[in-house]
Formats: sequence, structure tokens, C-alpha cells
Amino acid sequence: MTERTFSIIKPDATKRNLTGKVNAVIEDAGLRIVAQRRIQMSQAQAEKFYEVHKERPFFGELVEFMTSAPVVVQVLEGDNAVAKYREVMGATNPEQAAEGTIRKLFALSVGENSVHGSDSLENAKIEIAQFFTDDQIVG
Ligand code: UDP
Repeated sequence: MTERTFSIIKPDATKRNLTGKVNAVIEDAGLRIVAQRRIQMSQAQAEKFYEVHKERPFFGELVEFMTSAPVVVQVLEGDNAVAKYREVMGATNPEQAAEGTIRKLFALSVGENSVHGSDSLENAKIEIAQFFTDDQIVG
């Protein structure tokens, strides 16, 4: 089934000029980038986006990191896009990520792990709507 998922190329990757290399892995996996914008996330945007983690010990650090440099927000489209992108991203901790995944290739640590991807179709819809209007997504 064709789905859309939400992706963020995180500050550790944009700072190292890796946007194109991350996008190449995404496209090589058969996912299409149907919307993309480089933004500076505000503290409020980051806090809202990661609201589910607000009680976790790493929340403050995560918000600080996500606002520390520009990010690239994206909508990816393809067959089973949500699960496929989770596979392409690799495990949260890059030391546990499989060979060839974005996090294995580029991530620096469990926090600075280069990309975000929605973990369910329901969350993908919520996350996409936080950053894109329907007319900004061109499939
Ligand atoms: N994170 C962190 N420390 C942790 C766990 C997570 O800094 O111990 C950060 C990391 O950037 C991760 C994000 O919080 O990508 C969201 O965590 P989640 O468990 O949802 O992982 P993901 O879905 O991104 O793999």
C-alpha cells in the first residue's frame, strides 16, 4: 500500500553537510521525497513535536539538540513507507544499527542520530500536518 511518512534530517547531519547523502539512501531504497523544507526549529516546535518524551530524562537535551542548527523536514512516499523508512533509518542507537542504514552510516550517538522517522501511519499523519499543508506535498 502506498503510504506517506514524515522524516527529519537532524542537526548533526545538516551541520556536516550530509543532506544529499541521506537523501541518496532514502531514494535508493525506493522512497520518493514528495515535500522537503530546511527550517530552524523553534523551542516550542521541538517541544510539541517530542511531547510524548517530555517525562524522559533526555527530553531537555533532545529539544536543545533539535534547535541547535537547521533541520530538513520531509514527506516520503512509497510502498509501506512508514515501516520501510524505519528499516532504512536503522536502530535508534547507531551501535545497534544494521549495515547500510542511515544511522549506521552517519549517526554520531543515540541522541545525535541523524534522522527521525514516524513510527506509525497514525503518527505520520499527525507529524506531517505539523510541518506541511496538503498543497505543499506533491506526489
Ligand atoms: N533519544 C536520546 N536518548 C535516548 C533515547 C532517545 O537522546 O536514550 C533521542 C534520539 O534522538 C531519538 C529520539 O530521542 O531519535 C526519539 O527517541 P525514540 O525512542 O522515539 O527513537 P526513534 O524513534 O527516533 O528511533
